[in-house]
Amino acid sequence: MAKKELKTYIHKVYIIDVEKGSIRLKNKKCPRCGSIMAHHMQPVERWHCGKCSYTEFITKPVAPALPKKIAKREEKVEEKDKRKKT
Ligand SMILES: [Zn+2]
Repeated sequence: MAKKELKTYIHKVYIIDVEKGSIRLKNKKCPRCGSIMAHHMQPVERWHCGKCSYTEFITKPVAPALPKKIAKREEKVEEKDKRKKT
């Protein structure tokens, strides 16, 4: 763990907490090809595999802030188009 050379690549992929002495994987592994995926925040948060182009969008489990009642499922699709905030 004290080797400096290891930090170059490993720091991109792992979060190394020296104080706590913990190492954990920062990025996900691709479910398709098993390589480590890249985390992108823009335009939407997602994981992307550079090897096989697998992309996994991150949908956060925050939904209760909806202003309207969810009456029909079709309305949810329309809401995406009206997305612009005033
Ligand atoms: Zn992949």
